[in-house]
Amino acid sequence: MACLDPESPRPGTGHWAGILQSWGATALEWLYPGRCVLCLDPTPTGICEGCAADLPRSGPSCPTCAEPLPFASGCPSCQRRPPTLDAVWTPFVYAWPLSHLLLAYKGGGRPQLARPLGSLLSAHLPEAATEGIDRVIPVPLHDRRLVQRGFNQSEDLARTLCRQRGVYLDTQSVSRVLATPSQQGLSRRARKANLRGAFAASAALSGQRVLLLDDVMTTGTTLNELARVVRHAGAAQVTAVALARA
Ligand SMILES: [Zn+2]
Ligand SMILES: [Zn+2]
Repeated sequence: MACLDPESPRPGTGHWAGILQSWGATALEWLYPGRCVLCLDPTPTGICEGCAADLPRSGPSCPTCAEPLPFASGCPSCQRRPPTLDAVWTPFVYAWPLSHLLLAYKGGGRPQLARPLGSLLSAHLPEAATEGIDRVIPVPLHDRRLVQRGFNQSEDLARTLCRQRGVYLDTQSVSRVLATPSQQGLSRRARKANLRGAFAASAALSGQRVLLLDDVMTTGTTLNELARVVRHAGAAQVTAVALARA
């Protein structure tokens, strides 16, 4: 997955640079409750408004596949093949310093970052994304992976979003039945083949309006495959959200 790609901090970029360069040594100091994880200013949400406003936001993009759209002439990839998702939202771009927060969170095993990142998503996701939604389904991890990592990052983000928006969090209706190898470095076609048969969904989804949730959307293969399975199980509407688009 792109979110595990090594990426060096850009030196001398605003007030975060020094803080992020010393991330390893001082990480725990940043996790004091009531402080912004980026600038240490007091904030109840974990990432202060000033830092959140400076994070890289997504520009104009296709409403059904999230591909950046520089021109208002329609999306070439959705015109080639009808999209699996009814709508998709990716409020941020997967770039520094958000990429470092996500790396520190899941790669570095700092689950304390779940709440600030979940609040960030909740604050910047349009209300339309959760209006009329029956349930939010986070991308499931295979049991073996869950034991290794100790938490499911998508489920953690979804938990905060659902609590703040009053939407039902469903972690039961979809499961990951195959422990597929990492998608990192695979082509779009290979990613698709890699995920075939990875998910299974229960009949409880019949007629449901479902919002899928992932932490980072790269090619969209994971969300599209999950959407296909959920739709096959009878869901009436399938939309998706990822905190960031890689
Ligand atoms: Zn801050
Ligand atoms: Zn599109």
